Amino acid sequence: MIRFEQVSKHYPGGHQALQKVSFHLAKGEMAFLSGHSGAGKSTLLKLIGVMERPSDGRIAFHGHDVTRIARRDIPYIRRQIGMIFQDHRLLMDKTVYDNVALPLIIDGFTPAEIQKRVSAALDKVGLHDKVGYLPMMLSGGEQQRVGIARAIVNTPPLLLADEPTGNLDAELAADIMRLFAEFNDVGVTVLIASHDQSLIRDSGCRVLTLKGGRLLADMPAGGEHEA
Ligand code: ADP
Ligand code: ADP
Repeated sequence: MIRFEQVSKHYPGGHQALQKVSFHLAKGEMAFLSGHSGAGKSTLLKLIGVMERPSDGRIAFHGHDVTRIARRDIPYIRRQIGMIFQDHRLLMDKTVYDNVALPLIIDGFTPAEIQKRVSAALDKVGLHDKVGYLPMMLSGGEQQRVGIARAIVNTPPLLLADEPTGNLDAELAADIMRLFAEFNDVGVTVLIASHDQSLIRDSGCRVLTLKGGRLLADMPAGGEHEA
């Protein structure tokens, strides 16, 4: 589903965020992207979502070369990706319903279809009873689940999560991981950037480790993880 070939990224000002990174993530896989702060995890996710462009190398998504994709074709890629952020990026003056409906409104779904899909998404994350709440009235874990409902509401084949459990305690983090595993079970490809080593170890998932912008290790699922 995603193939990186010798991908490098330097930001204006000369900072080298990624250096010759190559890997392949197959359809239906669930993997972690690990590494310390500044290792290049966010940059790698942004390159997949075409929020940043690589300086060198080639990125294929579903067999399409997105390295030189035209600006007008970026929405087509974005619709296939659900993005989840550490700070969830909810609209604080909008209800849970409106936050989750947003991607569908942008995509021009009918009101009836929007209602049906928002309902289904909130069911999946267990927040049906909070549909009319403002994000402020929810706990941190619930806010993150609204962010996840918004990411999956248009059923994208790929989920990208950037430190999705960074603000949550271990128990809530485990709940969020179970949600990702459930989506993965029904065929969604999942890539999660995290520096939480115990969460990564407990998952038993494949782990791509970045260090200083280089891919240091690619540990297969069920492999022996180092502490
Ligand atoms: P991580 O997500 O692993 O913390 P990032 O991808 O955010 O790593 O950052 C990798 C490196 O690139 C860091 O040194 C960071 O400061 C730098 N960086 C990230 N975004 C930008 C940017 N927009 N402009 C300049 N440097 C950036
Ligand atoms: P996140 O992990 O949520 O992307 P970051 O702290 O990595 O948060 O980055 C926040 C924003 O600042 C991003 O848009 C990123 O591209 C930018 N950024 C990060 N590091 C730098 C940097 N050294 N110089 C300029 N912009 C940066």
